[in-house]
Amino acid sequence: MASVKVAVRCRPLNKREEALGSSVIISMQGRKTFITNVKAPLEASGGDSGRERAKTFAFDFSYWSADKNDSHCINEDTVFADLGIGVIDAAIEGYNACVFAYGQTGSGKTHTMMGSQESPDVVGLTPRICQGLYNKIEMLKGEGISFRTEVSYLEIYNERVRDLLCTLGTGEEFGTHSLRVREHPKEGPYVQDLSKHLVMNYADIQDLMNIGNNRRTTAATQMNDTSSRSHAIFTITFSQARFSRDMPSEMVSKVHLVDLAGSERADASGATGVRLKEGGSINKSLVTLGTVIHALADMCSVRSPEKKQMFIPYRNSVLTWLLKDSLGGNSKTIMIATISPADVNYAETLSTLRYANRAK
Ligand code: ADP
Ligand code: MG
Repeated sequence: MASVKVAVRCRPLNKREEALGSSVIISMQGRKTFITNVKAPLEASGGDSGRERAKTFAFDFSYWSADKNDSHCINEDTVFADLGIGVIDAAIEGYNACVFAYGQTGSGKTHTMMGSQESPDVVGLTPRICQGLYNKIEMLKGEGISFRTEVSYLEIYNERVRDLLCTLGTGEEFGTHSLRVREHPKEGPYVQDLSKHLVMNYADIQDLMNIGNNRRTTAATQMNDTSSRSHAIFTITFSQARFSRDMPSEMVSKVHLVDLAGSERADASGATGVRLKEGGSINKSLVTLGTVIHALADMCSVRSPEKKQMFIPYRNSVLTWLLKDSLGGNSKTIMIATISPADVNYAETLSTLRYANRAK
């Protein structure tokens, strides 16, 4: 049975928001997130839905990470305990899993998925999940199970794929998004010519993660920050071989850890040429992802005869097509929507909360 979990995480005010004298419009209580429209007239409170001052949303988790000095502040340990450990367990049991971070640029997607570039002691979900997986693998090796683990890291930009771990050539070749997705009749969608790297331990994974992350940020400074306008997918594929009663059996699982493109309105007026095309494809993938996850969440509540008739539009975007075998079925899907607490981001934050709400 497919399982979809949705969490929302609110970061602290940043320097720019502080300099603007922004007020905090987000609050949380238990699983609930509240957002206030400070511009709406006070008397509209509760009544007219379009102009309502405060809105309430409920998610699997509402993470208040906006103030380190607050004893309720949720740190990376809690996010990992709530969301990461379940991914590791599912993967070891042979299921696929996907974790997505969704939100406007600067809201904390990379912080949550990878950690902080400024403070290396803040370690995000991706390295924690990889390390946790390896700890389990080491334990199970002792029980006679053998493992083969491979890693790949790619970026989707304008519906094309770039290999962040490509070992051929240097320099410019990393700047091109030229790989295509194809579909194998039996094994499903894959990226043609994407490199896969065999790893032996967590340190190997860490090295590859660093290479890919550095390539993302280098390209960001050289190329007008495409990193905020592309989706990054870090994938661990591992197969377990067991020998029980002389019968060998093999089980393959995949974990995709996804840092999505910034969700800010990609159709911003005035966009032309490259920006317009780019905006269109960001929109298409994010809208399709939302639709797919919504359909999957819906399916959890539908009885099996009706399930077969539900059409899931995986192929509408490269992002969802590529993740097809890890979305739905018995896969575990987690969406973390990251938001800013500041009034200046009201419209974007509300749109993120609505997107997350639809994924439930
Ligand atoms: P995005 O990837 O969504 O563009 P980042 O993850 O780069 O955003 O976050 C932008 C800035 O905000 C970074 O300096 C980051 O360290 C900080 N930040 C984000 N989330 C948090 C958080 N939960 N706690 C503290 N700082 C955060
Ligand atoms: Mg980022």
